[in-house]
Amino acid sequence: MRSAYTRRLFYDLRVESVVSNKLDAVHDVLLMGPGPSCVYPDVYRALAHPTLGHLDPLFIAIMDDIKTLLRTLMQTTNRATLPMSGTGSAGMEAAFVNLVKPGDAVLVLVNGVFGKRMAEVAGRLRAQVDTLEFDWGTPVVPETVAARLQMKDYALVAVVHAETSTGVRNPVDKIGESVKMSGALYLVDAVTSLGGIPVHMDAWGIDLLYSGTQKCLSCPPGLAPLSCSERALAKLRARTTPVPNWYLDLSLLLSYWEGAKRAYHHTAPINMLYGLYQALQCVMAEGLENVYARHRNMHELLVAELGKLGLEILVEPDYRLPMLNAVKVPAGVDEAGVRARLLGEHSIEIGAGLGPLAGKIWRVGLMGHTARAVNVQRLIEALRAEL
Ligand SMILES: *Cc1c(COP(=O)(O)O)cnc(C)c1O
Repeated sequence: MRSAYTRRLFYDLRVESVVSNKLDAVHDVLLMGPGPSCVYPDVYRALAHPTLGHLDPLFIAIMDDIKTLLRTLMQTTNRATLPMSGTGSAGMEAAFVNLVKPGDAVLVLVNGVFGKRMAEVAGRLRAQVDTLEFDWGTPVVPETVAARLQMKDYALVAVVHAETSTGVRNPVDKIGESVKMSGALYLVDAVTSLGGIPVHMDAWGIDLLYSGTQKCLSCPPGLAPLSCSERALAKLRARTTPVPNWYLDLSLLLSYWEGAKRAYHHTAPINMLYGLYQALQCVMAEGLENVYARHRNMHELLVAELGKLGLEILVEPDYRLPMLNAVKVPAGVDEAGVRARLLGEHSIEIGAGLGPLAGKIWRVGLMGHTARAVNVQRLIEALRAEL
């Protein structure tokens, strides 16, 4: 006689074996939200290449090319430029965990979800975190930052370049001028900006910059390109206690990512790196200036077409992001209902508002491969049908 326990075990195993393969239901959705964006067809093909060993000389040559391409995209000469394993938030975690010591005074500039997340990450490292807050939907004001930096010494100042939660571009170049004068390290989140608007890491005095693959690089989520200045590396090397996170420790990772002899740290996500490699090749083949112009033009087309439907943008024109458009939900319109019908009836995904903007805006992404006129027109037709 089987016991009740083994009977249940048999039953569970039988149930599991008949689970249907849901991948059969996966279909093309036009991704016009805050990320992920539509993936380049060439990137899908790159992902399907045979997996190599993580120390295979051919793979190491690909890694070296990725570093070179990232330096061009970020406009930096930093040797320490590499993709971290993990999504954009892993880049954020890596940035803080390597550069912040317990007790460091850290200033985080907050005007949306991702600024808040930075303050949370820094706080968990037992830094003394101050925040300077600005209204959601408006940019960080460089003069306010400069005034704060005159009042107090900070080890590090952090800001988000493209605040995906609100559609605001922060003036990272201007803020950088006062950060440089203060002597603090300058940390910038370029998750949504990189590959969509110009990023000049060295010219803007940025010490640590990180990004993600699934926004304007149009690659699936899973990697966080990151670059670190020599000044920031010097602080890392001068630490008297180890970086408190082994996986994201840049000093260990660099022994895999550079040098004549590469040392195993963790197994690199080989196929994801093929994908990033191809995405960077796509961006370079189009040309950086052309890519930025396409984002700008598609943004202008979207705003003009939305205007014809009586829809307005939340952010002032000077600070609008081309790749993330915060569209005001008209009074009396069922915000979530429209989003659900766009997805269900039209296979178009757009994003909802977050925090104080929940229910008040839709977030329409024009990131990377998504930023095409056919996609803008398809969304406009669908909105016309649903509003
Ligand atoms: C998406 C995003 C992140 C987080 O990236 P994940 O890939 O979701 O971990 C961080 N910062 C900004 C500005 C983002 O848009």
